[in-house]
Amino acid sequence: MSKFEAEREKVVNRLIAEGILRTPSVIRSMKIVPREEFVPDDMRSYAYLDNPLPIGQGQTISAPHMCAIMNEALKFEVGHKVLEVGAGSGYHAALVAEIVAPSNIDSKLWGHVYAVEIVPALAVSAQRNLEKTGYLNRVSIINADGSQGYLEEAPYDRIFVTAAAPDVPKPLIEQLKPGGIMVIPVGGQYLYQELLLVEKSAIGEAVTKSVCGVAFVLLRGQYGWKEV
Ligand code: SAH
Repeated sequence: MSKFEAEREKVVNRLIAEGILRTPSVIRSMKIVPREEFVPDDMRSYAYLDNPLPIGQGQTISAPHMCAIMNEALKFEVGHKVLEVGAGSGYHAALVAEIVAPSNIDSKLWGHVYAVEIVPALAVSAQRNLEKTGYLNRVSIINADGSQGYLEEAPYDRIFVTAAAPDVPKPLIEQLKPGGIMVIPVGGQYLYQELLLVEKSAIGEAVTKSVCGVAFVLLRGQYGWKEV
């Protein structure tokens, strides 16, 4: 086992012991996806600290425990079509791809992740990170304002947002399938942010619950914060 694999195993086992990781497919994804390949070279030795890390452009890759909390709440299934708003490094998208389109099953059953990133340079590096780790066949990176969703592939089984919004953007609720689930942090910089879980019923009614308090970078774009 390499040094990185051993460190990865340790973080995952701690998240299991803490009760944050519970679902076998979510655990498996975190044991497989190499976080060290999604951080800048000078951050590789810190890849398995359970912290956010800088990825350039004032943005961060989420901490492993935050990806775990979100992926557990999202109740993914193989074959799901998923929208991510805020691709950043591409790490979280790769984790989700490994759950909805696992490497060890027939690719005919695979779902797909559409990951939207507003910063062009980050969209390029996410694409590169996903290519070198073998996920570009299950993840598409789109350089656009994801606060408006991504209408071209809507509706989605699951939507997750990895930057804090002033409120739940209406287009995202519209682009969620009936029976679908979205998680999104809502709140401002230096203000309390709450991770919300939005469940859309079979008849299209959205019910919102709070998951926990969180700290994310801010969502920009049409339905984001104007001053960032
Ligand atoms: N999920 C990422 C971490 C993302 S940090 C990872 O696994 O690495 C939040 C990201 O959201 C940043 O890259 C930021 O540029 C992006 N972002 C902010 N506003 C956005 C918007 N309106 N549309 C798409 N991406 C946005």
